[in-house]
Amino acid sequence: MESYDARYKKALIKEHSKIFDSNKSIIESAVEKLNECPVCKNKQYKIYCVKDLFVHKKCTNCGLVYLDPKLSREATLAFYNSEVNEIYNEKKFHQLVENAPDDLENYSNYKIIKKYISDIKGKRLLEIGPGKGTFLAKAASDGFEVHAIELNKSLIEKLKKITNHIYTDDLENINVAENFFDVIYFRDVMEHIDVPVPFLKKVHKILKPGGVLLIDTHNIESLVNKATKEYHTVIFPFEHPLHWSPDSLNYACSSVGFIKNNVFFDHHYQTLARIVEYLYHPSFTFIFPPQRSKFFTFILGRMEWILSKGKVKRIDDKFSIFISKLFGKGAKMQMLFTK
Ligand SMILES: [Zn+2]
Repeated sequence: MESYDARYKKALIKEHSKIFDSNKSIIESAVEKLNECPVCKNKQYKIYCVKDLFVHKKCTNCGLVYLDPKLSREATLAFYNSEVNEIYNEKKFHQLVENAPDDLENYSNYKIIKKYISDIKGKRLLEIGPGKGTFLAKAASDGFEVHAIELNKSLIEKLKKITNHIYTDDLENINVAENFFDVIYFRDVMEHIDVPVPFLKKVHKILKPGGVLLIDTHNIESLVNKATKEYHTVIFPFEHPLHWSPDSLNYACSSVGFIKNNVFFDHHYQTLARIVEYLYHPSFTFIFPPQRSKFFTFILGRMEWILSKGKVKRIDDKFSIFISKLFGKGAKMQMLFTK
């Protein structure tokens, strides 16, 4: 049997050929052109990067990074139901790994929320896209009444062990009373939402006045993203039409009425070693990385070797975290808003 990586790449190339024809021209019926920032409607932009022919723009007003043209609604749905996702989910959700990095992020985010909620018992908490339900299970065991929005059928079955309150449709379509939830949380979701303002409006509507919203997403202004651009895993046009920073996310959330309370960063994963790794071994989300000169490849290889050595590695780890904290440029961010 072919390796996981080979199967994944083959499936991804197949999906790419549904968006770009053999002459590298975009297939108009598979995409939608925006020609403006999907948050602030500004038409001015700079090119952030081009990856596998997909153009990513950066709004000169609010700083949002957006894919333009983006996949049409049908093309997006087709991708989520494609072989690519099936192969990916083998690793992501269906392996029983305790305390995977995803789990640890969820636990740490749960701690943030707990600090803002005094009396948990009976408080209503909604998680959008809970995956295998690590966060939700923790919140439920602490006494929250937990609710979930999840579209993936096999995950829904797993979540039923945690709660009966599962909505199996997009947020915009679910029927929930206004001012219903005390807490709303979602992690690694915001970058998937192609039309963010109506989405955030609905979140605002169903959150109680005084309620807490915690959004966890990657920070496109982080040091590692700035240094690696299209080489970074998160630049994945099939699934991530948007990329946020503290400023652009605050702009979007404020525009629907949220009040920014705090922003937290995860300062790990920002080392020089990590940057070299991304450049030297293009990630699984890069289908056709450009050919590089032998010289540059050689330099990267030597750098990777040097940075893996005990003492150098320790200095790299410490110094990177120091710089990241100093400038507030963590790779992941958790933004806390209130209504
Ligand atoms: Zn904008």
